[in-house]
Amino acid sequence: MSTPCFIDRCNQPIDCSRQAISSHLKTVHQVNVDSPVVQACQWSGCRVSVPASSLASHIMTVHMR
Ligand SMILES: [Zn+2]
Ligand SMILES: [Zn+2]
Repeated sequence: MSTPCFIDRCNQPIDCSRQAISSHLKTVHQVNVDSPVVQACQWSGCRVSVPASSLASHIMTVHMR
């Protein structure tokens, strides 16, 4: 199962696993997924701020249900 990415109108399909989301964030959106620095989730319509290291979990639980 995969979901289109809604970050910056990216629209690439991402597998619904933390690992796939994490590597997508890293390679396509240049997110430092190991960083504890808090940043805003760029998902369309989302304004939650989370640590970069938690962004993959956030996307999986909030945006991929
Ligand atoms: Zn994307
Ligand atoms: Zn979000």
